[in-house]
Amino acid sequence: MRVVSHRLLRTCRLGRIVLFADLCFLIAPRAQLMAADFDVIIVHGRVMDPESSLDAVRNVGIRNGKIEAVTSQPIKGRTAIDAKGLVVAPGFIDLHQHGQIPENYRAQVMDGVTSSLELEVGVPDINAWYAERAGKTAVNYGASIGHIRVRMKVMNDPGDFLPSGAAIHKSASGDELRQIAQQLEQGLKEGAVAVGFSTAYTPGATAWETLEVFHVAAKYKASVHVHLRSARDKSLESIHEVLGPAAITGAPLHIVHLNSSGTEYTPQLLSVIAEARSRGLDVTTECYPYTAGMTKIASAIFNEGWQENLGIGYKDLQWPDTGERLTAESFARYRKTAGWVITFTNTEEMVKAAVVSPLTMIASDGIPYVEGRSHPRSAGTYARILGRYVREEKSLSLMEALRKMSLAPAQRLEKRAVAMRNKGRIRVGADADLAVFDPSRVRDRATYQQPGLHSEGIQHVLVNGVPVVRDGRLQEGVTPGRAVRASVKP
Ligand SMILES: [Zn+2]
Repeated sequence: MRVVSHRLLRTCRLGRIVLFADLCFLIAPRAQLMAADFDVIIVHGRVMDPESSLDAVRNVGIRNGKIEAVTSQPIKGRTAIDAKGLVVAPGFIDLHQHGQIPENYRAQVMDGVTSSLELEVGVPDINAWYAERAGKTAVNYGASIGHIRVRMKVMNDPGDFLPSGAAIHKSASGDELRQIAQQLEQGLKEGAVAVGFSTAYTPGATAWETLEVFHVAAKYKASVHVHLRSARDKSLESIHEVLGPAAITGAPLHIVHLNSSGTEYTPQLLSVIAEARSRGLDVTTECYPYTAGMTKIASAIFNEGWQENLGIGYKDLQWPDTGERLTAESFARYRKTAGWVITFTNTEEMVKAAVVSPLTMIASDGIPYVEGRSHPRSAGTYARILGRYVREEKSLSLMEALRKMSLAPAQRLEKRAVAMRNKGRIRVGADADLAVFDPSRVRDRATYQQPGLHSEGIQHVLVNGVPVVRDGRLQEGVTPGRAVRASVKP
């Protein structure tokens, strides 16, 4: 027997956080204390795990960033979170977030996101990108090696994020194609979790270049995250041009924001994906719950014929700085100065077709905040699914929504990024990435006018066992995020 300092649960409460008092008292051997005490406990919550279908009141014990107990027995810990009346879910995993800066990470954790990945456009230099974030982020972070970005580098394109010069239209020479393939492979060797690809932004890439990208990805078991070339009546051709290379090479295929690309053809594209899957092809997809998209006005999306391709006109474009809808004159002016533009391409019916389909994951396609400007999806995607589609419209069950936001994206990446096998789940041994929310109150607040408004009702968020949101309040300066990165061997 020996004297140790021990913290004992006190019954008085302040908000939902239970206070502790330090007490000195005699206890049994240290081993027993170790077995009983956790770093953090989340008690009395409705624990929902989409992998095991567990949906019951349980206590969750966390130690060293891992879940070590999911139990109906009482447990003790140094920090306790009372989750009575709240849902305890796996933290949300966003496969499509361009806003990889602190302001976006803050908005995302308030929306329940614990892992944020830039997989569509990707990055050109994997080692440098991960090094910039090490030890500095609130969320776990990851990136693909982006074909778009590598092509820009090889062709000296002046675009800052998407191509605005040669990388749009130029077909690659033999030497350029070798350089592109070599740099993609280098990124995968450095641990990129996927390959980013989009013929929409690089229409100059030939079918042979596309096939080469898929060959490199297949060699490293990397999924290729694709923004389809065209929408509407060209949708089928667009999906064919990536289903073919996926079938030929065996590279897993993930089609980003299906409703945004498919518009009124979204249901048909979903049935094409379902049929391809039934033939054994590894193809998945995602969507975001908004009727407008956002992209660069100088990109190839707005090349000649965009109105027919997207099925919209000038009035469906909104300039975020002023809120004005565009005209032929202002469109021409802004296309010269460049910048982001909001594009109203979907109806609510198209969005809903994608959101309720069992084939889609939820991914935000968030945009980096620049002087507070962005798209509301950057801050509100996940709470919007929970508030609008689960609670208000009842078009999705809560468990199914959680599966689309946590387990399914983890499964998409786990063949290559082994760390994902312990995310998107609530079970012993899983990473303690958790979102604790009030299902009766959770809602998005971000709008096209105020895209920075944080979501509401997500009360506690833990990343690797460390609270980054407590009692609905952001914990500033807390950076428990870790790299989600593939192992370096092919
Ligand atoms: Zn995107």
